[in-house]
This record gives sequence, structure tokens and C-alpha cells, in this order.
Amino acid sequence: MVYFKDIYGNKDLVRHFQTALRTGNVSHAYLLSGEQGSGKNMLANAFTAALLCDEGGIEPCGRCRSCIQFASGNHPDVFRITHEKTVISVDDIRSQLNANVVIKPYSSEHKVFIVDEAELMNEAAQNALLKTLEEPPEYVVILLLAESEDMLLPTIRSRCVRLNTKPLPPDVIVKYLTTNHGLPDYLASTAAVYSGGNLGNAVEFATSQEASDERTAILSLLRNLDDYSIPELAEAVKLPQAEREAALDLIMIWLRDLLVFKSTGKAKKLVLQDEAPYIERASHVRSFEAIYDAVKAVHEARSRLKSNVNPDIVMEILILALKER
Ligand SMILES: [Zn+2]
Repeated sequence: MVYFKDIYGNKDLVRHFQTALRTGNVSHAYLLSGEQGSGKNMLANAFTAALLCDEGGIEPCGRCRSCIQFASGNHPDVFRITHEKTVISVDDIRSQLNANVVIKPYSSEHKVFIVDEAELMNEAAQNALLKTLEEPPEYVVILLLAESEDMLLPTIRSRCVRLNTKPLPPDVIVKYLTTNHGLPDYLASTAAVYSGGNLGNAVEFATSQEASDERTAILSLLRNLDDYSIPELAEAVKLPQAEREAALDLIMIWLRDLLVFKSTGKAKKLVLQDEAPYIERASHVRSFEAIYDAVKAVHEARSRLKSNVNPDIVMEILILALKER
């Protein structure tokens, strides 16, 4: 169960939703926009659970029938729009939303529809949604979550309460991890940089054994980058998809540290404190230009991974670009 009190950032948005809950002045449509990991889903879930909660407070109670159903993912009055691949089609909106809004809620006063990645709705889908937004039944609440509201039609935007989520600043994440999880500063800083302002990712990065093992494997690869043969490197970067992204993030932090060391000569400014001796060595044998090229190679790898290129080949090209020349 997600509670508003557990949401660390986006305080103004929490206040907005809780005021709506307190006064009963709930809108039919909200558009939550902000980059991935900036807390859109947490806010949408806390709001939905509180809105449907039998206790009717500004937080979900966590104990009533509605809260228990919500936490189990089986609330009969909550609908999450699903879709295939990279587009939300007009059929998705018609069959899952438009056809469903006309049916009264099963057990609550409201019926909530959550459209995650709403920017994936094509124009036909958005126009279909518009029909419902123009005359929503009184019990309906629609939550659109989008990376950027610019990708939605102005006619959609104008019918929603528009709220913007923001990622947490790194120092807030560092403070949270050091005080709530007792982490050392260097690990908290690494997690903050790595997470891009997403507290959940930061906690996962800093505390899970699996993430820690993956990190160790990548750091060990980077330590030995200049000693390993090309086939050895190619083998080492054959990673499952979920680990690839994390590996790229970590490589970026490593390159940032190489630049910091090369320009300041100071180990205490590094994010990856434990790696200082290796970073020092790697930064000595590389020119600034080589490091900048490596940064560019990471960006290129990221965009190639989004296209249809064989990911193992993308990673192999990247690791060769990182190697000393
Ligand atoms: Zn409840």
C-alpha cells in the first residue's frame, strides 16, 4: 500500500490531492506529468486508495475492505488501461475505458481509471478518450500519467487538472539514505546520482543484494577494462535487458569520476569512493578527449538499445569504446 506520508518529494502535489480528499472537491480528470521515476505512480496509487477507502480520510486506512482489495491489485472499481507494445490504440480506450465508464461503481462511490504512459495514446485514442472527458459520469475519476503533457492534445489537457511531478534533488536522496537506511555517504551519493531522482530506485540500488552483485560485476569489469582481452570483454557485457540499463548508468558515473579525477586530482570528490585507486589509474592513461568520446559512446549505446539492433553487439561496441586506445 502506498501512503501519502511515505512520498518524500512532490509535497505540493500531495497537498493538492489531500485537499481534494478533505473537501470532496475531486475532479473527473487529472493529468500527472513528469519524467519516469518522478513519483507519478506513487501519487496516483495513494490518491486512488484514499479516494476509495471506506474510512474516507486523506490517507488510505490500509485496513478496510477497499484498502485490502486495492493493495492486492484486485479492486473492482480500479481499472488500469493495458496495451500492446508501444502504442495505446483507439480500441484500447474504447473497450477498456469508454465502454466501462457507463457501468456504475461496484462497491465504492468512485470508479477510477489509470492510464499510465498516456503519451502513448495515438491521436485516434486521444479523441476517443475526449468523448468521455467531455461528459464523464459523476462517479468517474481518470488519472492520466505522462512523461510530458506536450504529447497530449490541447483538448485533452484543457479538461484535466494538470499537475507536474519533479524528481528529488540528489542531496535530499542522500539525506534520506543516510538517515533512514544508515548508508555511508559515498554509497548514498552513488545511489542518488544513479537513481536520477527516483527514491525507489535509489533505495533499491543501495540496499538490494542483487543490485549490489550486479554493481560489483560491472565495477570489476571496469577495473580490468584495460587488461581484459576483447573476447573476454564481449562475454562480460552479455547482460539481461534489466541489467543493461543499470550497467550504462553505472558506467556514466564511472566516466564522470574519471573526469573529476583527471581535472581535480582529488579522490575525495569521487562518487565511487571504493574505486579510487582504479579510477586514478584509468584516468592517467586516458586523454580528456578519450573520456568525452566514451561518454558519447554511452549515449549512442542508449539510443541504439532502443532501436532494433542486437543488444549484445551494442554493448560490445560500447565496451571497446571505453577501453584505453
Ligand atoms: Zn481503507
